[in-house]
Amino acid sequence: MQVRHKIYITGIVQGVGFRPTVFKLAQQFSLTGTVNNNSQGVTIEVQGDKNIVDKFKNYLRNNPRPIARIDSFKVHHIEPILEKDFNIIHSQESGQKNVLISADLATCPQCLNDISDPSNRRYKYPFTNCTNCGPRFSIIKDRPYDRPLTSMSSFEFCSECQHEYTDPSSRRFHAQPNACASCGPQISLLSPSKTPLQDAITMLKAGKTLAIKGVGGFNLCVDASNTDAVKKLREKKRRPTKSLALMVSTIEHARKLCHISPLEEQYLCSSAAPITIVRKNGEEFNHISPDNNYLGIILPYTPLHSLLMEHFDTLAFTSANLAGEPIAITDSEVQTMYDNRFIDEALTHNREIIHRSDDSIIQVVGDHVQFIRRSRGFVPLPLLSPIKSNKTFLSLGANMKNTFALSKDNHIFLSQHIGELLDYRNLQYQQSEIEKYKNLLELTPDQIICDMHPQYETYHPEYLKVFHHHAHFLTVLAEHDLLNQEVIGVIADGTGYGEDHSIWGFEFLSNTNGSKNFKRLASLEAFPLIGSEKAISEIDRIGIYLDPAAPHFNAQRVQIIKKLQQQNMNTIMTSSLGRLFDGIASLLNIVQYAEYEAQGAILLQQAAENFQGRTSPYKCSIQKKERLVIQITPLVSQIKQDLQKKLSREEMAYKFHLWVVEAIIMVTKELGITKIACSGGCFQNRLLTELLQQKIKTTDITLYLNNEVPPNDAGISFGQIIYAQLQGVSPCV
Ligand code: ZN
Ligand code: ZN
Ligand code: FE
Repeated sequence: MQVRHKIYITGIVQGVGFRPTVFKLAQQFSLTGTVNNNSQGVTIEVQGDKNIVDKFKNYLRNNPRPIARIDSFKVHHIEPILEKDFNIIHSQESGQKNVLISADLATCPQCLNDISDPSNRRYKYPFTNCTNCGPRFSIIKDRPYDRPLTSMSSFEFCSECQHEYTDPSSRRFHAQPNACASCGPQISLLSPSKTPLQDAITMLKAGKTLAIKGVGGFNLCVDASNTDAVKKLREKKRRPTKSLALMVSTIEHARKLCHISPLEEQYLCSSAAPITIVRKNGEEFNHISPDNNYLGIILPYTPLHSLLMEHFDTLAFTSANLAGEPIAITDSEVQTMYDNRFIDEALTHNREIIHRSDDSIIQVVGDHVQFIRRSRGFVPLPLLSPIKSNKTFLSLGANMKNTFALSKDNHIFLSQHIGELLDYRNLQYQQSEIEKYKNLLELTPDQIICDMHPQYETYHPEYLKVFHHHAHFLTVLAEHDLLNQEVIGVIADGTGYGEDHSIWGFEFLSNTNGSKNFKRLASLEAFPLIGSEKAISEIDRIGIYLDPAAPHFNAQRVQIIKKLQQQNMNTIMTSSLGRLFDGIASLLNIVQYAEYEAQGAILLQQAAENFQGRTSPYKCSIQKKERLVIQITPLVSQIKQDLQKKLSREEMAYKFHLWVVEAIIMVTKELGITKIACSGGCFQNRLLTELLQQKIKTTDITLYLNNEVPPNDAGISFGQIIYAQLQGVSPCV
């Protein structure tokens, strides 16, 4: 029986070679009809024998292209017409703006073959791409996603590239960034060079620091096997001990350097190509990540990287910026770095970057994938909200690890990593990127949302304001569709403004009124941060507060801190677990001065992981007041006893981790609720989260962790949107 079906498909189906796939499939099945892009996605009309049309639909539905994502697939029966063949209808410009924009994609295996085949016309061409791979978000100025509206507009096709672009049977059919050596972008150095790639390789081999232009910005690179070169890079970046990332030539080589699980490998090799934090296999790369047992590795994700990595096993790899400012994207920005002798040379190219975005970072905890930074390769694909709101919201996020978010219907567009807003350049970056998103997505916010903290750069009294920890809590509730269930939010992090104006950071919240509101049911006992912000780096201030008599503290220093405490000068109270981790690291004399935020916690984790054997947790005491309060004094007295007994630091650090797990479980049991949602930066501590996952299995409690939303403050903007969607909307300011 002859039928004609009209199929509406939404999701990530444009700019990913979807139409040619449909075309080829229809030809294989000898069906007639059309396929075209529309404002919502792709529409197919397909005609032929009913059985074959059904086969076609099944195949299409169940075998989406690797980078496509089908969100909905609706079929209508329509009248068959007289028709001879199957055609791709070219997009009309109108009404094309609701379609999702693809994220940037790492080089595909076929393109890698092209650049390594001497007989291929793209042999060694660093900007080779096809509909399966290449830049997307980073080069798009406006929609529809068509070449004239991308940074490829300045390159005119040669006849061969033009032919590929218009031939539906080509892998490069409608690949907007399609290019070859004779018509596309070219690499160069800042200094004149006829052989920029070879010169860059020679300089790297000689231990020089190079800025290399990638997809979302420049990266700083040095030969990782050259410890002096790495040391120099650290000096320049004023980053003496914080981890760098490592670009590794191939997955095979990466397996030799680190323990890589199948899930980790899947992410490393995915088209998003994030930095993946994996366990080191030996001490060879301690100069890359000195403070911990892990290493963030990344595989080459552009043809340029691949051509470079033919000459290196490993490169130290980090965003090209001075401490705290946005990642560099223009030649003039790296020229300044060159003039200041911050870099020795830059390997650049003339394909403009429209959207800055840093590399993404993930880690696998147990069998759970955790996003530490959701940026290049993932943005601007929306996350889904369980709430469908007809209002558009813009949320401005937290001050640290900032991201913003825009929402429409049930789509939440969580931005790439922006950075620390205390630096005005990051604030400017945030503002300019918000404008670009608004344009690109054609969204005009009905309401703007900010954090409750009056000192945040993005605070405005007339915005809708959300408590930091409520926002963290809502991220997990929304990701697991638990907004209407009774759940305890266990939020553990460094800093968040609380209802009592103190700094919160180890909070047990209940969700009331369909998660619109929350109640603080339990927390860590508050302790003073003597000198406020100063105690984030001078963590001995916390250690001395915990036990001024510990023998490793300098007597004079103890006197000063005690005096400050008595005068109650510049002191704020906090229930932050992050700060307690720092304090314990100081108390165990692991570190007294944190070179970067959370270094104390990271070193304490490393010490605990290095403990071999069995031990028991520090006993946890909880006091019932107007809420449950996890006591610090009994913890400290147990640690003091262990210090006197000269127990190893590793064991004490481990016992402390177990104490945190014990506290979470004791409080949850006391509250009598069997679902907990854990979020906050402390859960990036792999040991802590793994111990919690294991311990939870012995109870009747179900543990929920963040999926694609980062548990750290990069997730706050997402939680703020959920809050706004729950509240409904009041007039925009
Ligand atoms: Zn490709
Ligand atoms: Zn060409
Ligand atoms: Fe936080």
